[in-house]
Amino acid sequence: DRLISAAPRPVEEAQDRAIRPVKLVDYVGQPKVREQMEIFIQAARLRQDALDHTLIFGPPGLGKTTLSHILANEMGSNIRSTSGPVLEKAGDLAALLTNLEPNDILFIDEIHRLSPVVEEVLYPAMEDYQLDIMIGEGPAARSIKLDLPPFTLVGATTRAGLLTSPLRDRFGIVQRLEFYSIDDLTHIVERSAGILGVEIEEVGAREIARRSRGTPRIANRLLRRVRDFAEVKGSGLIDQSTADAALNMLDVDASGFDHMDRRLLLAMIEKFDGGPVGVDSLAAAISEERDTIEDVLEPYLIQQGFIMRTPRGRMVTRHAYTHFGLGAKE
Ligand code: ADP
Repeated sequence: DRLISAAPRPVEEAQDRAIRPVKLVDYVGQPKVREQMEIFIQAARLRQDALDHTLIFGPPGLGKTTLSHILANEMGSNIRSTSGPVLEKAGDLAALLTNLEPNDILFIDEIHRLSPVVEEVLYPAMEDYQLDIMIGEGPAARSIKLDLPPFTLVGATTRAGLLTSPLRDRFGIVQRLEFYSIDDLTHIVERSAGILGVEIEEVGAREIARRSRGTPRIANRLLRRVRDFAEVKGSGLIDQSTADAALNMLDVDASGFDHMDRRLLLAMIEKFDGGPVGVDSLAAAISEERDTIEDVLEPYLIQQGFIMRTPRGRMVTRHAYTHFGLGAKE
């Protein structure tokens, strides 16, 4: 498992509970999202209504789950959490819906992975707070209708494009999370260090932030590993040189890349003369699955401008050559 993977690790979930912000004012960065949600929350509270159904999309580790808990907290409501793949049958969703209290939040992570039958149950629930399901099978089957309390569905997904349009259309609020700036990540690292009781200098926090791929989950994980290094090899203080030495030892380079990123970039430079190269040829050259390249490796390299997608295939940019101290091809 990669240290710089944005995917959650089960052991971290418990550790994260202490550092996860619970109020909107402590949610660092994402100014547009924060400003809008503040208004929507206040308006709903004034009307004593449920918040409108909210869709949050953005890459893993950027704070979708955190934001959904903050929304419940700010609304003074309970939150029930589940995820698309867990809800296998219509009855699984019906059980959750019928247990909601007025203005509660139902959080569905990976909402793009809902099965069609479950999605069908969700439509009238979202639109009219109505539950409309079939029970039983064959001639004995009958449909039942139930009124549900007003509630807020908060859906999270990595890409809005993965949702069916009838589902997407039923969200009144759509928020897109962006990768975080280095300033924001520095702030997040300093905040987490404060909660964990770790001594850190601003330049140390900034060094961790720079290598965290725009992602708070990675920043917090790197902070924990750098803390170990600082405690064992130094006095416990995280300054610039401790952070730098620790991250080098952990194989996270100055751009936040690890050996897998470097292998991909170097293969494109050395074996394909910088591209364009098709993703399947690339997958064969570095012995990785095509999906791993497209879903795991590429997005950050593209976002950072190291790789470009063109109609004829992938190409590396000048940044990639500079990263390895090479001259760009003419
Ligand atoms: P996602 O659901 O998008 O995968 P999470 O909400 O689980 O991401 O966030 C991962 C971790 O990053 C959380 O444990 C939280 O501590 C931290 N985090 C995320 N967003 C922020 C933020 N805006 N401010 C501070 N910490 C954050």
